[in-house]
Amino acid sequence: MRKLLLLTLVPLYLWADAHLFVFHRFDDTRHPSTNTSTQTLRAEFEYLKKNDYEVISLKKLHQALKRGEEISDKWVVFTIDDSFKSFYENGLPLFKEYHYPFTLFIYVEATVDHYGDYMSWEQIRESSRYGEIGFHSYAHPHLVSMSDEEIAKDSKKGLKVMAEQLGYKPKYYAYPYGEYSLRVRKQLESFGFDLIINQNAGAVDKNSDMYDLDRTALTGANNIKVKLRTKTMPTTWINPKDWPKNGKISKLKATLPQEVKRVEYYISGYGWKVAQVNNAHLDIKIDKRLKMHRTRLFLKSGNRQSSLMLVKP
Ligand SMILES: [Zn+2]
Repeated sequence: MRKLLLLTLVPLYLWADAHLFVFHRFDDTRHPSTNTSTQTLRAEFEYLKKNDYEVISLKKLHQALKRGEEISDKWVVFTIDDSFKSFYENGLPLFKEYHYPFTLFIYVEATVDHYGDYMSWEQIRESSRYGEIGFHSYAHPHLVSMSDEEIAKDSKKGLKVMAEQLGYKPKYYAYPYGEYSLRVRKQLESFGFDLIINQNAGAVDKNSDMYDLDRTALTGANNIKVKLRTKTMPTTWINPKDWPKNGKISKLKATLPQEVKRVEYYISGYGWKVAQVNNAHLDIKIDKRLKMHRTRLFLKSGNRQSSLMLVKP
């Protein structure tokens, strides 16, 4: 009876968000910015276990999004980019120990050409017994500066090799360097992936875009406990939407949830500022020349946030 009462009173699924995380290297101190120590990884896994988080596969997340089902606040998805050998040697044993699924995004050329730091096809096939395999391009290029034809060529080449080596076409794509534009996205959408994943810190709810899922890096000083507090803020970005042709943002315009009256906004190189939101509309003049060829924009209200990546072609 008491439990029933609680269930009716507590808005269990209010702003329920899953969290996607990305790792690169494990116990590889030569590259501190992309490394995660297995000591840290174990502490994170223990935290999730003690706090009843459920580590799920991308497949399960995709099914829920496709059916428009509620997303659990307790869902966590782990992905690993670049198929470094240090995942196979140091990370995989821990994932196996905790029975946590993962998706490994393959940089195909590195394996084909036997680059020193990368996994072999045999190691990738063995990893696929415990997790899923995704596609991270053939040559790990900067997609935004490539033509449509070049993007299609890289994808076709990589998918052909993966089909030969694994016997199937991967269902998920993760952008190299997390870089993309509206045009790049359109090209990759044409390959029929179930999910396309970026590298913008955030969370995923039932309304998240399946071809633009936010994913947070868990390397360096990042703390999973803090990152798990992030919630999505349903936002329609009106201006900018893509890298502005003159390299300047003259106005920041977006539609936000009705209850948001004040928002913090961030533009790479300019830090955080505050703006008022009138009747769900943010519409301010800012006149900022973009300083970085890879610029991040964030809108934030409390722990809810929305982000955008702009990459110079
Ligand atoms: Zn990568």
